[in-house]
Amino acid sequence: MITTAVFDTKPYDRDHLQPAAVSGNIEWRFLEFRLTHDTVPTAKGAQAVCVFVNDQLDRACLAALADQGVKLVALRCTGFNNVDLVAAKELKLAVTRVPVYSPYAVAEHAVALLLTLNRKVHRAFNRVRELNFALNGLVGFDLHGKTAGIVGTGKIGRIVAQILRGFGMKVLASDPFPNAEWAGQHGVEYVTPAALAGRSDVVSLHLPLTPETKYLIRRETLDLMKPGAILINVSRGALIDTTALIEALKSGHLGGVALDVYEEEEGIFFEDLSGQVLQDDELARLLTFPNVLITAHQAFLTREALADIARTTVANLVALDGGRPFVEGSVLT
Ligand code: NAD
Repeated sequence: MITTAVFDTKPYDRDHLQPAAVSGNIEWRFLEFRLTHDTVPTAKGAQAVCVFVNDQLDRACLAALADQGVKLVALRCTGFNNVDLVAAKELKLAVTRVPVYSPYAVAEHAVALLLTLNRKVHRAFNRVRELNFALNGLVGFDLHGKTAGIVGTGKIGRIVAQILRGFGMKVLASDPFPNAEWAGQHGVEYVTPAALAGRSDVVSLHLPLTPETKYLIRRETLDLMKPGAILINVSRGALIDTTALIEALKSGHLGGVALDVYEEEEGIFFEDLSGQVLQDDELARLLTFPNVLITAHQAFLTREALADIARTTVANLVALDGGRPFVEGSVLT
């Protein structure tokens, strides 16, 4: 029996993890708060912890987990920028993630944001409910014939590119590891990051957050973008310097921004704060722009993706219990 403390549990996590564990020998301990150094004692007696994007697995937290006898940190997400992997390795803690789950979930959400923002569906929805049937201010542009720039052509970026090709867009891409065969098949052109910024009407980010990619979108890169361009980020918040983003919106240089992630989202996204005063002034400012659309890190939230996530997580916990190898591609340490 492997006891697993699941942090930051939401009802949809419980609904998918519980049935996925039917065949496994897993005892779940569902906890609704996040894992930080301070909350480590709640994992006492557990051999594994299951965590998500905003749990804070810094060195102190990992050392305390190892002290308590935890053997495995199982991330139920793809990104792992919130885990100090060097420390985990030194502490001999295994860390796994879910390397692949429905990339369609995330890609389709990126496209949903683009269509909503461009055609102002979010504003139209509110207007019509107020019986305001006027169309002033709702003018968008045809995607057909325009140029999209996909930054990062991994699993998700490639699908976004293919969907946008289906709309009749020209698609440019940049990636340090270009996939020439795929690009040839789908009529995608790899260009330099600067050329992508300068030529794209829509720029969509699909790369991981690393020390090198932090603030990839900052004042200088925003200046390179076409006036009126739309920026989409469903990857990680800190790929964008929010202060510079707000400046580019205030000046009117950017045509619109859709975000599913935000650099300071921890403690805000995934929570119902509707009865509280929002303390984050930059998020509050972003929410005042008519041409900013924000969802709270929900791109992964489809039944298919949740089932994939639960399956891989359970397989890794069962592997730990049986002393067998973890799911291929999921091992980080
Ligand atoms: P992936 O590993 O398949 O692809 C990432 C690609 O980015 C790779 O091809 C890599 O070479 C490229 N890359 C790395 N550095 C780059 C740079 N400087 N410029 C351009 N490209 C660069 O990853 P994926 O499955 O496609 O996921 C992409 C990101 O999406 C993840 O890292 C994660 O942060 C994010 N994500 C978000 C959600 C959500 O719910 N919002 C869900 C899943 C994943």
